[in-house]
Amino acid sequence: MPLECVVCGTLLTTRSPGAVGPYPICHAVPCRMVLDQRATLGEAAFRQHLHWRARNTREQRARARAEDERLRTLTASESAENLAQWAAVEAHLPSHQADQFIRLALPSGPARQRKPAQGRRHNYRDHLKDIIAQATLPNDEAPPADVVATASGSTLPGQVCALCRGGCCTRGGDTAYLSADTVRRVMAQQPHWRPEEVMSAYLDRLAPKTQAGSCINHTAGGCALPREMRSDVCNRYLCDSQKELQGRLDEAPALRGVVVVQRRQDHWSRHLPERDNGVVGAASLTESSVSPGPGNS
Ligand code: SF4
Ligand code: SF4
Ligand SMILES: [Zn+2]
Repeated sequence: MPLECVVCGTLLTTRSPGAVGPYPICHAVPCRMVLDQRATLGEAAFRQHLHWRARNTREQRARARAEDERLRTLTASESAENLAQWAAVEAHLPSHQADQFIRLALPSGPARQRKPAQGRRHNYRDHLKDIIAQATLPNDEAPPADVVATASGSTLPGQVCALCRGGCCTRGGDTAYLSADTVRRVMAQQPHWRPEEVMSAYLDRLAPKTQAGSCINHTAGGCALPREMRSDVCNRYLCDSQKELQGRLDEAPALRGVVVVQRRQDHWSRHLPERDNGVVGAASLTESSVSPGPGNS
């Protein structure tokens, strides 16, 4: 009979430090903490406790394994579908050369617009009030450095985000990742702005209609805030496809364009089991043009 941890079921060797005694245990801290209860609970109560903890731990592990397997299967089937979509777009690209185009998969930001509920505007105003108050407390620290994404001179990163429609902005909620640090940075750049003016600068940029289910600053035309008023989170964040693109732009041979397959869900919902993440489009982008893939015109 193989020796296994009484809590989590991990296989142990006879040389494992916790392998001796009536309750073999692995090195994991949560498992050892269960065993530590033996000293205080008494044998009968400890056995009951152990039974519950072992059952919960093994159920959690089984769920995690099933989820890993689901994601592996999903990723494999999406990858196969992406390959076919990219190849179909490339077949229609005049003088396509594989080393001059990069293949990317994108999520989709919300397509519909909605007037933000009054409650959302109140939440935003309250959040701004809090962070402006924090930012204007006496503080000896230098204001945070200006963080603005580096411009490569290529139009492709902006075109890719525009095609995606802000698929990563959907978690911005009513606070848009803005913090006291953002306000301190903005006030350092605009030294004549008093707190009321900072507040107005943000509130004045609220659009009458925003993208349904997304950040309060997410509009059909992109972010309503100029880069210097956005949070560092927003200015720094790149999804994997953008990272890949921006890395490739620094390399030779020069990139002529991007071949994109786009899926239905946003960046954060794309792997949820209850959501259909089917392909919604495929296209090629160059510095100066966007061409829908075959069947997407
Ligand atoms: S960073 Fe990625 S997910 Fe976010 S808008 Fe751009 S392409 Fe879409
Ligand atoms: S503030 Fe702008 S960039 Fe940041 S999440 Fe909202 S819409 Fe996106
Ligand atoms: Zn264990």
